[in-house]
Amino acid sequence: MLIHVDMDAFYASIEERENPALRGRPLVVGGRPEQRGVVSAANYAARAYGIHSAMPMARAVRLCRDLIVLPVRMSMYASVSRQLRDIFHRYTPLVEPLSLDEAFLDTRASTRLHGPPAQVARAIRETIGNELGLIASVGVAPNKFLAKLASDHDKPDGFTVIEPHDVQDFLDPMPVQRLWGVGAATLTRLNAMDIHTVRDVRLSDASRLQQVMGSGGSHLYRLAHGEDDRPVRPEHESKSISHETTFAEDVDDREILESVLMGLTESVCQRLREAGLEGRTITLKLRDAAFRTTTASRSLPARTCATGTIWRVARTLLAERYRTGSAVRLLGIGVSRFDAVYLEQVDLFQAPATQKEARVDELTDRIRSRFGRGAIGRGTRLRPDR
Ligand SMILES: [Mg+2]
Repeated sequence: MLIHVDMDAFYASIEERENPALRGRPLVVGGRPEQRGVVSAANYAARAYGIHSAMPMARAVRLCRDLIVLPVRMSMYASVSRQLRDIFHRYTPLVEPLSLDEAFLDTRASTRLHGPPAQVARAIRETIGNELGLIASVGVAPNKFLAKLASDHDKPDGFTVIEPHDVQDFLDPMPVQRLWGVGAATLTRLNAMDIHTVRDVRLSDASRLQQVMGSGGSHLYRLAHGEDDRPVRPEHESKSISHETTFAEDVDDREILESVLMGLTESVCQRLREAGLEGRTITLKLRDAAFRTTTASRSLPARTCATGTIWRVARTLLAERYRTGSAVRLLGIGVSRFDAVYLEQVDLFQAPATQKEARVDELTDRIRSRFGRGAIGRGTRLRPDR
């Protein structure tokens, strides 16, 4: 059983705590309405007016004339977030933060010390209340997917445990869009197959689902059965994963540099996948004949471990940084920024290339781990961007 902790109206609750006179009054934090600001967070009193985050502030103040609008004090929220993580770490090192106010915890290894997960979850909720003066909703369930649904189930101030034998009853009536990966495009396709609830997915013909949905079909099918084997991945396991090579003789040939970079990228990506990590920032390192080292980085909109995606960035960085004819002594590539964002809601149908890439990567990893790293390489023969 895993735990998902999600603070209730986090930014707004901190502001209420800091100024108790505001407690219970409709309150938002965000940008000023006259400056086209948006709502960053709304407390529950404001939500009762239909106000929610990402809404233009001008609209929010129209919906509620007494709305209290406070500026975002991000450094304060971040420091409360650190206190929150310190509390989590008293119970387990296996803490995976999803954002400032949300985290997965795997406490199974410390059961003898702190009790079973449900008991730990209660203790954590109490500690957060006592020490931080804030309210958390907590879910306890057999895996991440279910634990996140559980914490959301009875929000705010919720505490929901889904026992293994209750999973199907809990899931079945849910609308299918609660399954991870179902965005607007996928929903349309599913509805066309007369699939509306999780139960409909579960009872659907798995092979037909796969026909219509590709590899996303089996993913949905597994989720509909409450199956999700993603482990809790603690932060700061590793700040970056990189590979570099120093040439015995300086290299001044662009094609050779590209093919070496391809090999380095493949190794880095395989290590990412083996560690269950995804990164956002790709860094190229070049050292010239005069021992001058330069680095160039680029960040992707979302975390990835896909070789094709990372290779495209790596190659672009090389093209931008390498001066034709100049001699290179050392070449390296690294991937970093594993932090922060949880797998964002990616619609299965908007990422067909990524799905395909993931399958290629999986196959390549399997072959390379069986027959050695030299067994298969894309090199220049199989460029993953084609
Ligand atoms: Mg929250």
